Amino acid sequence: MALDAALTQLLGRAVPLNASETVATFDADRRVLSADLVSVLQVPPQDNSSMDGYAVRCTDVIEARVVLPVSQRIAAGHAADPLEPGTCARIFTGAPMPPGADAVVMQEDTREVGGDVHAVHVDAIPVPGQWVRRAGEDVTRGAVVLARGTRLSPASLGLAASLGLAHLPVMARPRVALFSTGDELVMPGEVAPQDMKPGAIYNSNRFFLRALLQRLGCEVSDLGIVPDRRDLTLAALKSAADHHDLILTSGGVSVGEEDHIKPAVQQLGSLDLWQIAMKPGKPFAYGTVRRDAGAGPDASRTCHFIGLPGNPVSSFVTFLLLVRPFLLRLQGADLPAPQPVMLTAHFDLPRADKRREFLRVRRNADGGLDLFPNQSSGVLTSATWGDGLVDNAAGTTIVRGDLVPYLSFADLLA
Ligand code: AMP
Ligand code: MG
Repeated sequence: MALDAALTQLLGRAVPLNASETVATFDADRRVLSADLVSVLQVPPQDNSSMDGYAVRCTDVIEARVVLPVSQRIAAGHAADPLEPGTCARIFTGAPMPPGADAVVMQEDTREVGGDVHAVHVDAIPVPGQWVRRAGEDVTRGAVVLARGTRLSPASLGLAASLGLAHLPVMARPRVALFSTGDELVMPGEVAPQDMKPGAIYNSNRFFLRALLQRLGCEVSDLGIVPDRRDLTLAALKSAADHHDLILTSGGVSVGEEDHIKPAVQQLGSLDLWQIAMKPGKPFAYGTVRRDAGAGPDASRTCHFIGLPGNPVSSFVTFLLLVRPFLLRLQGADLPAPQPVMLTAHFDLPRADKRREFLRVRRNADGGLDLFPNQSSGVLTSATWGDGLVDNAAGTTIVRGDLVPYLSFADLLA
């Protein structure tokens, strides 16, 4: 199956959860808005100065070197009186414009008269509106400031706060049960490197998958390592299905007889095992696991299941390209897919692969791309050394100097 077809199928099954909750604006980074934010006020609330200087009536300064008495002093956070004609007001950045004034002359364009703060020479002729921030120039009253489906960023939290919103309506977090499979897996911290038995390896997928899920705003139940046994795999799936929206596993979806995930999911629901024409990544499973009748308030009678390949780089890349969009869709996020940029290959790829390949590369100081020498799906170093992927079409060789499509990890992890 082509990757694009797999993604389309997968997204077709990701019905948005449609549950929402209210969270403190402080805690809403990366969450998805469940309602439009409509402003009940204008920002800024009134005309104010964008400079330290003097507020004037432009008709009072029709030539340079005019001397104006200073009739009031307006600091930020304080109210202004109407500006008396023929005078100016000392004003500071963010302070409200006095009624009647129509421009600000910046301090650098004025001189105090004889060192006295009560009158100034105005050395530059102002134009109306100069150094004035207009009321409502950022946000008008009634405007939809951020739309439902927006994934909140630090800047959007600031904007929401500028509207007086201490709490925001957001989509519920997807509840994800995560487990790793494989009898070879050992947890760091439980067995010291020198005590590792032959054949044992540390469980690395669990660490990056949990972190990736958390970045996507999921509530993660980390169920640890499930041994390669049918009964334990069944039990883990069954108990996870009731209280989660997605069960995500790594390993055990190949076709070997030690791969227990496949028959277990089939027994408890349904499973499509996709051989995706991509490298790294090939084996990938999507399915559903039935929930016990009456379990929990959740209306859906099944829980989504996604089985990622065990090889760390395959697991990492398929998460970024398939699971991430799936989870964003579950949250109702309205987010464009990351777009590749064309960059120059500073490497050769003389042997074409039958499959579409996602090469781990990094940008160099000359603006080109270097290739990590070992592209094996087990070599996680390629993903830490690299800063992105070249999306290389099936059957395509690359010659140094070719323009190739590059997807940054920054975009894929955003
Ligand atoms: P599997 O898909 O279970 O056949 O595993 C494929 C390869 O990935 C094997 O070499 C496994 O040892 C390795 N692997 C599976 N799960 C993990 C994991 N959680 N962390 C590190 N390597 C893993
Ligand atoms: Mg395995």
